[in-house]
Amino acid sequence: MNVLISACLIGVNCKYNGKNNLIDKLDKLMSVCTLIPACPEQLGGLKTPRNPAEIVEGHVRSNDGIDVTYEYNKGAEEALKLAKLYNCKIAILKEKSPSCGYGKIYDGTFSHTSINGNGVAANLFIQNGIKVYGESEIDKFLCELEI
Ligand code: SF4
Repeated sequence: MNVLISACLIGVNCKYNGKNNLIDKLDKLMSVCTLIPACPEQLGGLKTPRNPAEIVEGHVRSNDGIDVTYEYNKGAEEALKLAKLYNCKIAILKEKSPSCGYGKIYDGTFSHTSINGNGVAANLFIQNGIKVYGESEIDKFLCELEI
């Protein structure tokens, strides 16, 4: 089974600050599925490192005020193409990201305040029938596989 995963979660330095969000359950995950890494922000043409961005009233803006909605939408579409190409019905995505975030995202004030909502790519995945798990739900995902 192929599972699309946020590339930063497997250790790719694609995060806005040039770092990653490596998780500690990679071995377990890779023993049960094939991981297909994707970084929607890079796929949308954004460079790394880059300014952090948050969603405000339906637009994605970086902290210097630049509207990067086009790049975020483009990256979400490219990531979806990859998910379809590899027949991924499930995605494990980085929580709170304006691209990958699922359930909770930051509120657009760059103050680390969370609100309910999804990132641009997570939203597109859900609209296209892909089941999304945040990285804190990996144990839940593994349990559901065993059922
Ligand atoms: Fe990670 Fe997704 Fe942000 Fe890329 S867009 S750095 S994969 S959270």
